[in-house]
Amino acid sequence: MKSTMDYPSKISNMNGITVIYDNRALNGLESGWGFSALVSFRDYKILFDAGGDGEKLLRNCRKLGIDLKEMCCVFLSHIHEDHTGGLWSVLEKNPLRVYLPASFPPEFKSRAGKYGAVVEISDPTEILPGIHTTGEMGSIREQAILLKTSTGLVVVTGCSHPGIVNIAKEAKKIDNVYLLAGGFHLLGSNKRELKKIAEDLKTLGVQKVMPCHCSGDRARKIFREEFGDNCVDCYAGKMVEFR
Ligand SMILES: [Zn+2]
Ligand SMILES: [Zn+2]
Repeated sequence: MKSTMDYPSKISNMNGITVIYDNRALNGLESGWGFSALVSFRDYKILFDAGGDGEKLLRNCRKLGIDLKEMCCVFLSHIHEDHTGGLWSVLEKNPLRVYLPASFPPEFKSRAGKYGAVVEISDPTEILPGIHTTGEMGSIREQAILLKTSTGLVVVTGCSHPGIVNIAKEAKKIDNVYLLAGGFHLLGSNKRELKKIAEDLKTLGVQKVMPCHCSGDRARKIFREEFGDNCVDCYAGKMVEFR
């Protein structure tokens, strides 16, 4: 088990995901209903979602040695409070460009626009070199971020309201999926449905999964059975590196 002392230097150099905010937490971090992660890729450090509670998010950032000033921008998956509630505490400390679904309420966009540029996303787009969005999907209008790594796509999702399989299908239009990480929204699914979802993801060629946040314990157990060591445990404080 890594100690918190290992975090700072590692985070600044790696291509990877560091989970900042999740329903589960280890290594002295605080847990909370919601999701946020630092996505580091090439020259970019992106805050993916902002959790539900801004003060908790900032405390976890401090413990992880994450410096908000190093970030280029925020990527918001969807409007729900457990992914956007922490945003204002972050922007207050450090104004950043925000990529958000175009369907967000006008009041939200203008409030975010007081701190920095707001980039509205509707369609699949390459937002930064090698970094794509699926564009808005489903009735809740959610986007996922896609990183074009040398081993395939790393996909990070917020809640996966459009369906985790649909998101994987959308990602596959760009490249094969190496890692699918984030909330999978499977708390209400039974064992049979979960097995089918795991099989569908495997059929699509998804190599690794990291079910976080709203995925649920039952899903985590079944994904572990189906993917073995390629199912990565998720909690605030978890770091995953890739090339
Ligand atoms: Zn959520
Ligand atoms: Zn949600």
